[in-house]
Amino acid sequence: MDTTGKSGFETSEAYRTALQQLDAVAKRLELDPSIHERLRYPRRALTVSVPTPMDDGRLEVFLGYRVHHNTVLGPTKGGIRYHPNVDLAEVSALAMLMSWKCALMGLPYGGAKGGVACDPGRMSRRELERMTRRYTAEVMLFIGPDLDIPAPDMGTDEQTMAWIMDTYAMTQGRTVPGVVTGKPLLVGGSAGRRDATGRGIVYVLGHAVREAGVDLRGARVAIQGFGNVGSVTARLLWREGATVVAVTDARGGVFNAQGLDIRELAKHVSEAGTVAGFPGADALTNAELLELPCDVLVPAALGGQITERNADRLRARIIVEGANGPMTPEADQIAADRGIVVIPDILANAGGVVVSYFEWVQGLQYYFWRESEINSRLQEVMIRAYNQVSNLAKRERVHLRTAALMVGIRRIAEAFQLRGFYP
Ligand code: NAD
Repeated sequence: MDTTGKSGFETSEAYRTALQQLDAVAKRLELDPSIHERLRYPRRALTVSVPTPMDDGRLEVFLGYRVHHNTVLGPTKGGIRYHPNVDLAEVSALAMLMSWKCALMGLPYGGAKGGVACDPGRMSRRELERMTRRYTAEVMLFIGPDLDIPAPDMGTDEQTMAWIMDTYAMTQGRTVPGVVTGKPLLVGGSAGRRDATGRGIVYVLGHAVREAGVDLRGARVAIQGFGNVGSVTARLLWREGATVVAVTDARGGVFNAQGLDIRELAKHVSEAGTVAGFPGADALTNAELLELPCDVLVPAALGGQITERNADRLRARIIVEGANGPMTPEADQIAADRGIVVIPDILANAGGVVVSYFEWVQGLQYYFWRESEINSRLQEVMIRAYNQVSNLAKRERVHLRTAALMVGIRRIAEAFQLRGFYP
């Protein structure tokens, strides 16, 4: 088996991690070699230039991507990321993760991901809108309600999804709500979507802590990232009685051993644009946050944050991966050897795609559910997946990540076997 040769993604840490996970699980599952080989590469990948008129009159050309990893279970689904580090290899790795995640959660989707290499924090709203509309026009043939359905990811939000839907609608001559999820409520969004990823994290974490003999009330929690995933997780855990002792974001971090008041912190962030400088708390770096003694660590920002360089200094009992791919395989092994429970990304942060699926179904039917209905269905799906993973992990004596990947990859392999290979 080659490493990453065919794809040309040799230098990508994210792709290497994704392949290492797939290869290890394929071996354990004794996967048919042709299916294994097929799953190592995206089905389709599109690279586009996104010329964007900037406010100062210059034309800036950004690079954008959209990747479909596989379509054996249905149309593809996955977020769109705006971040300076976005490249084809990272997007392809994240699309692969989405395939495993959708299959694990029992959703009728394959995995996809997209992104634009840009720094959204330094762009005006008008610039972001022009870039988003041009990106949408460039990937138009790649997306659609029964083809590929984007959603928000790092650097994108409800507003971005509204622009994508509107651009798509203009070319079709009609509104097509099913083309994206994570839209604002008023234009076809779902109740509960904004909180869904954080809520899903809290559902599975609640289950896992009971098994690990930790009480969520009073548990000491550290969170990296205070965007959609990090801030909602912080708020819901704080409401459950957990003590959120530390939070960092791209511009700094804060620590208070007695616990941070998350409602006040959110207010501070809406004014200051960062958690840094929150009154009554000490400053903290990202490196310090990851090494803080705590019960629960929630990486909810970038991938590749916990590596062999810092994993032996982790002092958390449980790590819940809010972010996609925050740990390298080496760090995973070190954490396992040290008895740290890791609730893997494809399980922990799947709440977002589950409620995206609900939003898509509601949009196709033009019939919308109440938030309480969404949340109880979400809870049911999350707990069912958690139990499947946890039971398999015990039966096979493997860690939760391996078990989660086994469930997802096995489903995809079975679907390949049923459908066969074309031609
Ligand atoms: P977001 O853009 O809303 O927030 C990202 C946060 O990370 C911000 O607070 C930002 O300041 C912080 N950040 C960026 N660089 C950082 C750094 N170097 N150190 C510390 N913090 C940093 O993004 P999001 O939607 O919350 O996504 C966060 C992660 O969760 C990503 O890995 C994403 O793929 C994953 N995820 C998101 C969803 C979702 O529904 N939004 C679902 C599943 C997984």
